[in-house]
Amino acid sequence: MKPVYLDNNATTRTDPQVVETMLPFFTEQFGNASSMHAFGADVGSALAKSRKQIQALLGSEFDHEIVFTSGGTEADNAAILSALQTQIGRKEIITSAVEHPAVLSLVAHLEKTQNITVHIIGVDAMGRLDMEAYRKALGPKTAIVSIMWANNETGTIFPVEELAQMAHEAGALFHTDAVQAVGKVPMNLAESEIDMLSLSGHKLHGPKGIGALYVRKGVRFRPLVRGGHQERGRRAGTENVPAIIGLGRAAELALEHMQDEQTRVAAMRDRLEEGLLASIPNCFVTGDATSRLPNTCNIAFEYIEGEAILLLMNKEGIAASSGSACTSGSLEPSHVLRAMDIPYTAAHGAIRFSLSRETTDEDVDRVLEVMPSVIAKLREMSPFWREREVREGAFNPTYA
Ligand SMILES: *Cc1c(COP(=O)(O)O)cnc(C)c1O
Repeated sequence: MKPVYLDNNATTRTDPQVVETMLPFFTEQFGNASSMHAFGADVGSALAKSRKQIQALLGSEFDHEIVFTSGGTEADNAAILSALQTQIGRKEIITSAVEHPAVLSLVAHLEKTQNITVHIIGVDAMGRLDMEAYRKALGPKTAIVSIMWANNETGTIFPVEELAQMAHEAGALFHTDAVQAVGKVPMNLAESEIDMLSLSGHKLHGPKGIGALYVRKGVRFRPLVRGGHQERGRRAGTENVPAIIGLGRAAELALEHMQDEQTRVAAMRDRLEEGLLASIPNCFVTGDATSRLPNTCNIAFEYIEGEAILLLMNKEGIAASSGSACTSGSLEPSHVLRAMDIPYTAAHGAIRFSLSRETTDEDVDRVLEVMPSVIAKLREMSPFWREREVREGAFNPTYA
């Protein structure tokens, strides 16, 4: 049986066309872009092409708005730390309760070790930002707002354009962790007020260990990594040339597949979701289904453990995720679902299905075929489920 991979928000398979584009840059075109000879010059123009490909995906208008980093995590760190240095006299950060640890653990560290105040804006039961709390938190001390474009666990999309405008009215910079949104939703940064945006290669069928920070023209920037003059002094260290070339190609392919992502992938996701809801009792969708990434659905199966569900799914050759990969292994349900006040009995059984352009109709059929019995089997063993059946009079003791 062919394995079914529905954990694309954790990482995607590098597109074979991306790998093919990268390969010559390990062997024939191995030069250092900073060198004064032909080996270096060829590589330099390849890097420039990659930047253009990323700009096209983001709708970035000006050269030099793309700074390559080691991934989404570094881009998030670089954006926030830069703003604290350029926004003189401003010592406050605003972020949301459902950010990736790349943001949340950094701001927690800053609050603990530096003289920084952090406002963490909550979300409602559908994962939507508390706009009133956001408005109140903004002020003359706000250095930067960092709020994600789309949530990695539920797929909920935030109104980043509006949030950026509001940040600017308070004189703050606006950064968005768009690692999950880039390549899945159309973007036109030239028309937006977003100052900085993080993206990551391996979330869009590119290689791991490469990402970029978009820094809007005119936004002052202080580097996180200091050393040589690479990236115009904004990120030192010899460029990871093959990975950068791969990221550019991945961006180009993402743009080509955008329409497919918005239509075919979204339709598969909807069919999966509707099928699961129709065939399995006591489960519901978490997040804002009206403003959501086309590839993601997160379903809470009440009265059972997500880890157990994943284990049985894994036995059937199906890969998905409970909470985020970064928090799994802990017994607490995900911080995202807790922020949404999803009851513990449901949050513990939440499963994220994240599709990609490589997902097929057969994959969806297989999940729909397997899941009802996986859930039923676990519920048979669940004391919480038994209690509920007794309470609702559905429990038949002859089968006890
Ligand atoms: C994966 C992810 C990151 C981290 O990106 P890396 O390239 O793995 O460092 C950051 N933010 C979000 C929302 C993510 O999904």
